[in-house]
Amino acid sequence: MITNSDSPLRVLLLGGTSEAMSLAQRLANDKTVAATLSLAGRTANPAASPLPVRVGGFGGVDGLSGYLTRENIDLLIDATHPFAANISRNAISAAPAARIPLLAVERPPWTPIKGDDWTEYDSIEAAIAGLPSTPQDVFSGLGRQAIAALSGAPQHRYAIRVVDASEPPANLPHATIIAARGPFRAEDDIALFAHHGIRHVLAKNAGGNATYSKIEAARQLGVKVHMVRRPAIGLRPTVTSVEEALAWIETYRHRRSARGV
Ligand code: NAP
Repeated sequence: MITNSDSPLRVLLLGGTSEAMSLAQRLANDKTVAATLSLAGRTANPAASPLPVRVGGFGGVDGLSGYLTRENIDLLIDATHPFAANISRNAISAAPAARIPLLAVERPPWTPIKGDDWTEYDSIEAAIAGLPSTPQDVFSGLGRQAIAALSGAPQHRYAIRVVDASEPPANLPHATIIAARGPFRAEDDIALFAHHGIRHVLAKNAGGNATYSKIEAARQLGVKVHMVRRPAIGLRPTVTSVEEALAWIETYRHRRSARGV
């Protein structure tokens, strides 16, 4: 008799991060799992995925839970960026609505070490307001979505790093856009900061290695970091590594085979 326990576990992986891509790589090589990677569709040329990809929002909690039910998803894994709070909160509500378990894969935040000069803020707007009022040379690692907020302090000379190239907005007369995709190296960011005479860094506490270079460069050059704390997401089972996420999937596979359903 063929039972469900013989069929692959159906996993929806909410992505947009390097962790999601590493997990996708491992799941693509696992024949007992049928996983789909979900992307918001924010970047023009996302990294090639080893898994089937679906792109675009689901339409809120109802849209996501409807998708999970329709597609017979067994497990939902949220490996989105720590600042992608909306989709993560939606996942917390949609998984129980679709009667499936949710796991978040979330890298630990960075913490300041000796030599760092950080001030922490609860929002992007507060971090920008924390810059001195006189014109400064500022590196923004806040991403494309924060460019609009920079216009609250247009007097500064900004070097703004984003994934996709674009023109600097007209209301930021002293801005340079630097289009580049991580991972970045500290020595390159040191050279970049020296080139632009950077004295202030705007950053989100993303955690992980891929974008830590700007924090290391700031430490080495004695540059001040204005760090945005992570948004509160809500309670959910969370692991910090791809290995732990794979072990969690394995637990469900065993549970299902033991039940023979
Ligand atoms: P967000 O504010 O949490 O998401 C806004 C909306 O975009 C969500 O409500 C959802 O639309 C849709 N969405 C987000 N992630 C999705 C996914 N993986 N698959 C399908 N739909 C998704 O997120 P964000 O800050 O705009 O970030 C968008 C994506 O970029 C995330 O997937 C994240 O992993 C990645 N990313 C974000 C940052 C950052 O700093 N925020 C940095 C690097 C990468 P519906 O409500 O219609 O479902």
